[in-house]
Amino acid sequence: MKDKFGREIDYLRISVTDRCDLRCVYCLPQNADFCGAALGADELAEICGAAAGAGITKVKITGGEPLLRKDIIHIIRQIKQTEGIKSVTLTTNGVLAAKYAKALLEAGINSVNVSLDTLDRSKYQKITGKDCLHAVTEGIKALKGCGIDVRINTVLQYKDDFLPLISFAEKIGVDIRFIELMPIGCGAGFKPLLNTELKSMLGEAYKLSFKGNGPAVYYKGRGIKIGFISPISRTFCDSCNRIRLTSDGYLKSCLCYEDGIYIKDIIYDREKLAAAFAKVIESKPKEHCFSDKSKITEKRGMNKIGG
Ligand code: SAM
Repeated sequence: MKDKFGREIDYLRISVTDRCDLRCVYCLPQNADFCGAALGADELAEICGAAAGAGITKVKITGGEPLLRKDIIHIIRQIKQTEGIKSVTLTTNGVLAAKYAKALLEAGINSVNVSLDTLDRSKYQKITGKDCLHAVTEGIKALKGCGIDVRINTVLQYKDDFLPLISFAEKIGVDIRFIELMPIGCGAGFKPLLNTELKSMLGEAYKLSFKGNGPAVYYKGRGIKIGFISPISRTFCDSCNRIRLTSDGYLKSCLCYEDGIYIKDIIYDREKLAAAFAKVIESKPKEHCFSDKSKITEKRGMNKIGG
């Protein structure tokens, strides 16, 4: 389905829980209050059926930390089997990735993003509040070892971690993408490292660039792709194709505005649900307002919205 600016909206991001086992400083406050898993597996499948009817073909499972849900494999399998949904992907902090790698593959996952901001153990603990870097790197290797299409997503906190992360990605043969920090939730209190600055640190070997299907611009690394997603330094709203479902059952059209519709109570009313999808897609704003933080109306944290 096209929005009023002619953009084809075919991608739904679902936060399946606002709970997380990490406390990344720019994402989740220490004293966060949680609603947990507001929507059950069958409700999520029903919603995805309606989403497919509205033209959604790709679903990203996110959170909070989606692998904390005991029924996560069941959720993925059901959405994957939904008519019209061609791709189901997952983003995870990777802590439990090794445990779930095989089951994810069997459930039909199309790809997995693992969030990793540093390879330094003490910095990892400082950023996330937990000493589990090893579990994450092993998780990435386990996913790759299973044959899953896996890539690393980095919201870089320390400039000197940039090249080591690229070397690590090259060594294990996994693409990596650098995402600029956005002023949403706790992120509003942090100054983003801009990708323009990071790109200038890439050596001669990394000159070739090309645009991917999504918002990333890619450089060719040694056997891998190095992507830059730059919502701050290079707006890509004109090609935005996504809407979001928050962990509390709220369908919304843009990361930074709170506009949307609670669909929790109309899940089994196909007509109303279809109308909600149509309205949210139709009302999608032209662009985000990160350059003027006073215009951001979304109060939810990234764990509820889904990153
Ligand atoms: N726990 C899962 C994970 O780590 O991928 C899924 C949820 S997490 C909110 C999804 C992604 O959002 C992570 O890569 C995280 O680094 C990113 N994120 C959180 N807050 C952000 C912000 N303010 N700006 C940009 N990315 C952010």
